[in-house]
Amino acid sequence: SSEAEEEMCLICTETIEIYAIGPCNHAVCHKCSLRLRELYQQRSCYLCKMDQPLVIFTYNGSRTFQSFGEREWAKRDESMGIAFEYPEMYQDAKALLRFNCPDLGCDAIANSWGALAKHTRSVHQLLLCEICTKNKKVFPHEHTLFTRKALASHYAGSDGQEVARSGFRGHPLCAFCGQRFYEDEALYVHCRDRHEQCHLCVREVGANKAPWYESYSTLSQHFERDHYVCRDPGCLERKFVVFSSDIDLTAHQV
Ligand SMILES: [Zn+2]
Ligand SMILES: [Zn+2]
Ligand SMILES: [Zn+2]
Ligand SMILES: [Zn+2]
Ligand SMILES: [Zn+2]
Ligand SMILES: [Zn+2]
Ligand SMILES: [Zn+2]
Repeated sequence: SSEAEEEMCLICTETIEIYAIGPCNHAVCHKCSLRLRELYQQRSCYLCKMDQPLVIFTYNGSRTFQSFGEREWAKRDESMGIAFEYPEMYQDAKALLRFNCPDLGCDAIANSWGALAKHTRSVHQLLLCEICTKNKKVFPHEHTLFTRKALASHYAGSDGQEVARSGFRGHPLCAFCGQRFYEDEALYVHCRDRHEQCHLCVREVGANKAPWYESYSTLSQHFERDHYVCRDPGCLERKFVVFSSDIDLTAHQV
């Protein structure tokens, strides 16, 4: 390839400055490689899924992984599983993982999420989304800073611009607990652990459409109202002995 032809990272589509090359010799940019390895804990090639116990960060995208000798890298970090051709690449990688303030004009570095949140609140009068900082796989400086009002819209998914830009529809709310979750999957896991769904309704309309009940006591009110409950004391104690028709209940009782 000619000099003018710059290679593009297949993940972020930016021009690659520092290549991250694995044993399969597929390359992505160093930021995406670091994000996959350190934030997603993913140690395989993004493209071919081959195991990548080690990747090499280099300026030279035309070299193969196998062409590098052990002495050619300035630093090898065992916990990241990355070998760095030059020491500044290592410094740069460490810097990306620090709690850097997301404000572009600010070079403050905190030592925890809590300290960073305190900093943005007191210095910039802006807030971080606590749910995103716990769950979203981006570097600290890539997080968004919100005004109090903007954070409320972010939670509720009522910021039209954000919805249009990223498709983010807010952090889903458990109406029983008043707690918000990172995404639908996390809310579902919470509901499955803490709340109840009627197995008869699930069978009829599916788990996505069947309503949730706060506890077994509210679920049993639904059983009484909409289904056929067996009143045998043993069955009441065992719970969930309920039928969708009179015929099924009678068949159970004989
Ligand atoms: Zn990239
Ligand atoms: Zn590969
Ligand atoms: Zn700052
Ligand atoms: Zn958030
Ligand atoms: Zn809940
Ligand atoms: Zn039901
Ligand atoms: Zn019974």
